[in-house]
Amino acid sequence: MIKRKPFLCILLLILLFFTLSCTESEERESGRRPQVITTTNLIADMVKRVGGEFVQVRALISPGVDPHQYKASEADVIRITGADIIFHNGLKLEGKLEDVMRRAQNVIPSFPVSRDIPENLLLRSSNGDYDPHVWFDPKIWIYAVQTVADALVALDPDNTIYYRKNEEIYVEEILNMDKTARDKLAAVPQNRRILVTSHTSFAYFARSYGWSAIGIQGISTMGEVSVYSIHALAKELVGSNAKCIFTETTVSSRFIDALQASSVILGSGFIVGEALFSDSLGDEPENNTYTKMFLKNVDNIVACINEGGG
Ligand SMILES: [Zn+2]
Repeated sequence: MIKRKPFLCILLLILLFFTLSCTESEERESGRRPQVITTTNLIADMVKRVGGEFVQVRALISPGVDPHQYKASEADVIRITGADIIFHNGLKLEGKLEDVMRRAQNVIPSFPVSRDIPENLLLRSSNGDYDPHVWFDPKIWIYAVQTVADALVALDPDNTIYYRKNEEIYVEEILNMDKTARDKLAAVPQNRRILVTSHTSFAYFARSYGWSAIGIQGISTMGEVSVYSIHALAKELVGSNAKCIFTETTVSSRFIDALQASSVILGSGFIVGEALFSDSLGDEPENNTYTKMFLKNVDNIVACINEGGG
């Protein structure tokens, strides 16, 4: 097997040296906008809202691609080394990118947007790791907006007023979105508020809105799940009020398909709802921003549960 990691590390070091030695100050002085690299498009959307016309933003991970399993390409390393600032989620969301991020942060300002979230607001999985899907509690995601704004202000203090104003507007938009989501989800009867997905990406969502969240794979998509445990989960759910289960746009549907097949064998038959956006935005106008993606999920969840009958 060919190991590409040493090559990436060497390439990164060479490019970092080159970047520091000759290009950064010259390009800054030419008046170009700060180049921002983010891992996920969720973070890119946030940086675009706060940075507006004064930054150029690019997400490494494309819509619909799973960040848990994403590996940096040579082109990604070149983009990272050309950046003025980097934002990533942290909390091990981008497990396979962490090594590259760690090396870059010695020479390029690099921020996990989860950095300022109070620890007591973070959820942990059964193995003790923090759940990285913090964007599914809008009130927590606001801490990330603040982190991004603080970082842009430090990078480009001349435009502080602009960044702070955008931060304020965006936080208000997120809070309005949260209220809309809360109202729609509250209309679902208490005993039907069960959200079953491929992996445990909706635990913050569930805590925030008073639902139960069940993910077949746990907080990462890296683990395998046995047919036996899926059948055992189907048995448990068939005896509950769960009627809908959901695939996710960044995750294979195979576990949800197996769960649905088990439920049919057990004489029930879950409805498989429209795929939810969990770890990535979509690329359509109705789902390509954080707030639109969030409300699209809410509508899909409520529609499926209504279809399943009360
Ligand atoms: Zn995930």
